[in-house]
Amino acid sequence: MGHHFTIKKPWYFLIPVLIVGSILALLLIATLRLEKNVEAKIVEISTSDVFSIAQNNATYIHTLLKESTHYVNDIRQNPALQKQIEKSLRTLLTPNIKYAYLLYKDAKGVFRFLSDASNSEEQAFVDQKFDIDSPQWLEIYTTKKPLLLHHTLLHQLSMSYLIPIMYENDVTLILAIDFSIQKVETINQLITTMQYSIIVVMVVIGLSILFSIIQAVRFKAVRKTAFTDKLTNVYNRNYLQKYEDFINLNDYIIATLDIDYFKKVNDSYGHDIGDKILKQVAHIILLIIRNHDDIAIRYGGEEFLILVKTNRNDHLNSLNVVERIFLAIQDHRFYISNDEYINITVSIGVNLVPNKSRTFKEAFKLADIALYNAKNKGRNTIELYDENENIAHTHFSLNDIKEAIEEKRIQCYYQKIVDTQTRELARYEALLRIVDKHHMMVTPDQILPTIKGTFILRNITKEVLSLCREQLLLNSNIMINVNLNPQDIIDDSILSILKTYALHDNIASRLGLEITETEEISNKNDAKKNLLMLKSLGYKIFIDDFGSGYSNFIYLAEIQTDYIKIDGTIIQKILDDKISFLLVKNIVAFAKEARIQVIAEYVSNEAIYEKIKSLGIEYSQGFLFSIPCDSTNIFTCKDI
Ligand code: GH3
Ligand code: MG
Ligand code: MG
Repeated sequence: MGHHFTIKKPWYFLIPVLIVGSILALLLIATLRLEKNVEAKIVEISTSDVFSIAQNNATYIHTLLKESTHYVNDIRQNPALQKQIEKSLRTLLTPNIKYAYLLYKDAKGVFRFLSDASNSEEQAFVDQKFDIDSPQWLEIYTTKKPLLLHHTLLHQLSMSYLIPIMYENDVTLILAIDFSIQKVETINQLITTMQYSIIVVMVVIGLSILFSIIQAVRFKAVRKTAFTDKLTNVYNRNYLQKYEDFINLNDYIIATLDIDYFKKVNDSYGHDIGDKILKQVAHIILLIIRNHDDIAIRYGGEEFLILVKTNRNDHLNSLNVVERIFLAIQDHRFYISNDEYINITVSIGVNLVPNKSRTFKEAFKLADIALYNAKNKGRNTIELYDENENIAHTHFSLNDIKEAIEEKRIQCYYQKIVDTQTRELARYEALLRIVDKHHMMVTPDQILPTIKGTFILRNITKEVLSLCREQLLLNSNIMINVNLNPQDIIDDSILSILKTYALHDNIASRLGLEITETEEISNKNDAKKNLLMLKSLGYKIFIDDFGSGYSNFIYLAEIQTDYIKIDGTIIQKILDDKISFLLVKNIVAFAKEARIQVIAEYVSNEAIYEKIKSLGIEYSQGFLFSIPCDSTNIFTCKDI
């Protein structure tokens, strides 16, 4: 799959490049040494003969001087001997040996000729001074051995060969020859040509490597733009389409990620902020996935597919990557302006066993089913695909609920709320019921997690509002409380319905609004503003489930609510649990001070009722007074 599957580590390219490069460099060094070796060989071949001939010559001259006790003087004074020596030296001359001569060193240490066999014009005369070109010459007096001296000349090898001629263990005369050998030009040219061609080859190879690197980089860049999502910089759908068949299902776990309530983010802050948040979500994903192993793809508007590299026996590490993404997004502050931020959550579906599917598409679909389940379970969660779960849905699916709305199977049950002192009916609370296909009654706790925050919940709220309106219009002397979710309060369509009820039907004073707080409100300012508006229309505001974990004091502090309804689970424990009792007692004291009236729910027996009464709680609700009854016997519904 893309670079993930073909070239894992691009720098591996460099290995053959380095190998070829070093081979060529070695060749270059070899040719340089070859040049030296060839030179040495030439010298060796062309000098071995010269040395022995020159040596013979020296020996011959030595025999000529056999009778002499003073070589230098004897030669000087004896022209015949000079002639003989010169003749002998002349035999040494060849095209290569241009000079052969006999030298001595005078008392002042100056070298002088005794005999010279070179051609006539340049021929030195006896006693002519001879300038040595290097102090090396003097070595021969100590070593008393033949000496070869090299001269550095460009196109030829030039040497002097000196042989000592001894008198009684002293070097008295020196037989010297100068010879030069033309370098073997053809060989030299061959070597130079080799060197040049190696260099040329190296340059060509270097250039073509450079060229292909440039090409590869450009190709990669082109491919990258085609396969990268412009907004978020992760891979796009095209990438998935192109490579999905190459994904090895053994290598990855598949996670699908969808931002929760993203539509609302767009609606509240605008599409640009939405885009910005999408970008940041992608950025977080990219930061957490492991660069060369995992792959992130934006396959839908705000949906990401993450392929997390896995080792077949150990899914935990890969799942951990998914969890880190989940938590990092949860913790991140998404700034919508310089000083205001929101938090968002995501739902993630994970298929831990893609290799059980035949194709990537199938495996992907299973992750998507898990995502769907995550959404159903209330969002902000990671769901693992479970082979068994998707077959039978234990609870109502979204579709079931949608169907129920369409088929008017939404109902309200009504439960009495009574004046604690007199036990007289004060008002009703409308409770949602859905009739399922088998005519069984389904209660809110079975469906709310599924629909929380979706438009479906809003549609249900509208349905409930309309049913309550019906009852209020039918019975002009009753009051009904209806449950609203914080999301409903910031929904324009619900607000406009409530306005109509107030202004057109004039039922605002008889319709109480119970605000349940089961989650943080994402947009507190709007909620506050809307609640104040509803109050001004004549609606009474009830805080539901007060004292439960979610209580948010915004309503109390800023809206001046009319009633609080203490969470039923606290009332239930009021007799046995000291803390619950203290909590209730203090809520009541506080409410009295704040001029807020209190309702106790779950009042199920006389003992609890007595306690409630003694605390001065104004209203009570519970099985002690009535069970919830359907609209047909709203009045006849008998007290238990
Ligand atoms: P949930 O996933 O929790 O069910 O609710 P949601 O509101 O996120 O609903 P859903 O996933 O179905 O909606 C996706 C929304 O994401 C629709 C659209 O408003 C928004 N969206 C999709 N693509 C983009 C985009 O590129 N930029 C912005 N700003 N919004 C996008
Ligand atoms: Mg979506
Ligand atoms: Mg979403």
